[in-house]
Amino acid sequence: MTTIAFVGLGNMGGPMAANLVKAGHAVAGFDLSEASRAAAAATGVVAAATLAEAVEGAACVVTMLPKGAHVLSVWQELCGLVADGTLMIDSSTIDVESARKAHALAAARGCPSLDAPVSGGTGGAAAATLTFMAGGSQAAFRQAEPILAAMGRKSVHCGGPGAGQAAKICNNMILGISMIGVCEAFALGEKLGLSHQALFDVASTSSGQCWSLTSYCPVPGPVPASPANNGYRPGFAAALMLKDLLLAQEAALATGAATPLGAEAAQLYGLFEKQGHGARDFSAIVEMLRGPQAG
Ligand code: NAD
Repeated sequence: MTTIAFVGLGNMGGPMAANLVKAGHAVAGFDLSEASRAAAAATGVVAAATLAEAVEGAACVVTMLPKGAHVLSVWQELCGLVADGTLMIDSSTIDVESARKAHALAAARGCPSLDAPVSGGTGGAAAATLTFMAGGSQAAFRQAEPILAAMGRKSVHCGGPGAGQAAKICNNMILGISMIGVCEAFALGEKLGLSHQALFDVASTSSGQCWSLTSYCPVPGPVPASPANNGYRPGFAAALMLKDLLLAQEAALATGAATPLGAEAAQLYGLFEKQGHGARDFSAIVEMLRGPQAG
C-alpha cells in the first residue's frame, strides 16, 4: 500500500484515482473543480481542499491535467510541498519540452520522476486497461510499475525524460493519418459503388490492414463496436486528436523532422473542429472527407 496524491480528477484522472483505491492504495485527490472532487470522494478517494493537504504524507504524486502549462505550474507548487524522494508521475498528454522541464523541477527537488502518458481513453481508465508509455530513469520506472499496474494493463519504458510523451505523439500521429487514409478509401469506394463490407473484407486481410480499419472502422457495419455504429459518440474526441496532432507538429518544428502527412492531418482535424465537430469521435471525419452528398 502506497500513500498517493492524485491531482486532476477529470474524465481520466477520476477513474484512474478510483482504481488506485480499488488496488488498496491510500489516495488523496485534489482538483480545482468541486464537482470532480465530490465525484472522486464517492469512489473512496479522500478529497483534499488544497494541493498541500493532498500531498501530506504522500510517497507518490500522480498528475492528470489538460496541458503542459497546467502541469508545470502544479509541479512547481508540488516541489515546494512534497517530502524528499517523493515519486512524481505525470500522465497528462503534453508537449515534450514541458515534460522535460517538469523532470528538471523534480530533479532539482531530489525527487524521481516519470512522464507517463496513456493510451486507452476513458474506457481504459475506467477498466484499468490503460497502456502507459514512460520516460525517465530506469529506477523511477521500476518504482512506478506497481502503481501504474493498478491503473493499466501495460507499461512500456520508452527512454529518458520526455520519451513517454514522444512515443505518445508519434503513435497518435500514425493514428490520425491512418484514420484519414481509411476514411478516404471508404469515401472513394462509395463513389465506385463498393459496399462497406466488401472493402472491409478485402482491406482487413490485405496490405491496407490497420487499427483504424479493423478495430475502429469509421463507417457503420463491419466493426459493430466502433463509434460509427453509435452516432460517432466518443470514443476519442476529434478535439483531443487535434490536440495530439498539434503537439506532434510542435515537436516536428522544434526538431526539424519532416512530417508532411502529420501536418495535413492536423489541418484536416482543425477544419473539422472549426465546423463544430470537436466533441464527436475522431472517426466522424469520414463525413467531412466524403464532401457534400449528391441528391
Ligand atoms: P479533463 O478536462 O476531464 O480533466 C482535467 C482536470 O484537471 C479537470 O477536472 C480540471 O479541473 C483539473 N485541473 C486543471 N487545472 C488544475 C490545477 N491547477 N489543479 C488541479 N486540478 C486542475 O481532461 P481528461 O480527459 O481527464 O484529460 C486529462 C489528460 O489526459 C489530458 O492531457 C488529455 O489529453 C489526456 N488524455 C485524455 C484522454 C481521453 O480520452 N479523455 C485519453 C488519453 C489522454
